[in-house]
Amino acid sequence: MFVVDEAHCIDTWGKDFRPAYQQLGILRKYGLPFVALTGTATKQTSSIISTALQMENPEEVRLPCRRNNLCFSVVAKKELKAKDQVAQIVSSDFDGLCGIVYCARQADTVEMAFELKERGIPATYYHAGMEGGERIRNANMWLEDKIKVMCCTNPFGMGIDKKGVRFVIHLTLPSSLEDYVKESGRGGRDGDNCSCILLFRFADRSFHLRNVAAMPFSEDSLTLLNSLADFCMQTSLCRQQFIARYFDENLGEACYCCDICQEDSFQEQKDLTLHARNIIDCLRQISTLEGKPKLTDLAMTYMGSKAKTIITQRFNTVAQYGKGKDQFLNVNNATKFIQFLIFKGFIKENIRSLEERMTINYLTCGNVVDLVDGRCQVFFNL
Ligand SMILES: [Zn+2]
Repeated sequence: MFVVDEAHCIDTWGKDFRPAYQQLGILRKYGLPFVALTGTATKQTSSIISTALQMENPEEVRLPCRRNNLCFSVVAKKELKAKDQVAQIVSSDFDGLCGIVYCARQADTVEMAFELKERGIPATYYHAGMEGGERIRNANMWLEDKIKVMCCTNPFGMGIDKKGVRFVIHLTLPSSLEDYVKESGRGGRDGDNCSCILLFRFADRSFHLRNVAAMPFSEDSLTLLNSLADFCMQTSLCRQQFIARYFDENLGEACYCCDICQEDSFQEQKDLTLHARNIIDCLRQISTLEGKPKLTDLAMTYMGSKAKTIITQRFNTVAQYGKGKDQFLNVNNATKFIQFLIFKGFIKENIRSLEERMTINYLTCGNVVDLVDGRCQVFFNL
């Protein structure tokens, strides 16, 4: 029998940089049975897997991805001193407990461990760029409970099944909801509760956006990234139910544990379809004046800002100038809604060029046909 473990890699890595994964079907010539295993796959991914492996009418066994002992929350990440923010959470809420802090950059793992040690919390680090011996040493220290907190990049954890992990914190958002679910799922394996905390700020999406733009199948990767950003920003559906819906499972009951469930009441969503259309219109208009408008340009124009940058670029002359004032409290408020339109694909955020290290992205219209034709509505809570 052939067993393909971590079979979702056929879809993800197979598309981008391991095309040979998509050709594993050639092993069929041996006439042996095939099994494919994966921890996270949408229905679409599993159909890609069975096609690649030439499985005809395969028997599909799907366990619910929901793990009721995981308690999800998303917290606003501080612009500066985010590592200090994590260290504070660990020392106040998880003193003496075992956990993982996932970081996006290798350097962050070292700095994060240092920050924790400064506060007297035993911590170590792990990333793919380390020398092999040191990497294994650090991993073992954590596995054997000699050190409580592991600060690592995403290669850490594959195949790791450690008991007693009581928190999984993400310093930076991962590149997809699949990755997030997989990484946070390394906590609570013993059945006891585990807190999964994701530090989110819109700017961190740009970190991935640069990588996404360099990929051959960037549209797919962008969709994956946007669904995680949507998970972070939405405030109307229990986190567990959001994940279940994403993986095409029954929603089940709300978890009564995540940050959304803990809110006193679900915020009612408003129909902001008209404003969504106006903002798209506004973006088109200011684009004729300045080829690469920024998110702040759009938000300030729609809110009728009198800032110098708006006046000198003549954004105050467009028809939609100031039209957002009757709906949004301030520019920040409008910015949040525009970010939401970006995650939904109505507006596209573009990086300037792969060579430039400029981090300020510019906006263009995304897929707006349904919105403009009135075939879809946009609900949002401010
Ligand atoms: Zn919940």
